[in-house]
Amino acid sequence: MAKIFINFGHAPNGDPDPGAIGPNGLRESDVNADVGAIVADYLRPAGCEVMTYQSDDLQDICDKANEWGADAVVAIHCNSFSADSTGMEIFTSRGQTMADRLATLIMSQMAGEFPALPVRGDWSDGDVDKEAGLYVLIHTDAPAVLVELAFISNPAEESILGSSKGKRMFAAAIARGVTDYLQEVS
Ligand SMILES: [Zn+2]
Repeated sequence: MAKIFINFGHAPNGDPDPGAIGPNGLRESDVNADVGAIVADYLRPAGCEVMTYQSDDLQDICDKANEWGADAVVAIHCNSFSADSTGMEIFTSRGQTMADRLATLIMSQMAGEFPALPVRGDWSDGDVDKEAGLYVLIHTDAPAVLVELAFISNPAEESILGSSKGKRMFAAAIARGVTDYLQEVS
């Protein structure tokens, strides 16, 4: 049974680190936790073993995933910049790894779920993910991706991120991307 580790970005209950906060007060740590918990709810009946974990200690997150022996790691965050920033992003570590495929399949499901939201991709190396030296991506042993659902700093996207329908749609897309990936690698 595949072991999927889901990290909800930032601190539990926002204490001490809520991540970004939207113009109407929505906290990123809460969105990440809600969406991630629904992803787990979708993946378990699909035959995955799931560990969920929220911490503001990045090494602690990596240790948990590595000790558990995760087969894939998905970190969930919301983006934040300006009120008119828009769209979805997904990050992997640098270079072509299995994480690139996982990222592509997740973003493809997210794009299908939210056709009105732009995909902020970097197609320069032939796929959609952006590559960066983000801590949880380079210190986890398993293929790892970091999803930026949408911009919590954009009031329209904040309202999607704050709605139960929007959270379910993001979660369903991420879960389907994970199961698409597992089918490919099995
Ligand atoms: Zn974040």
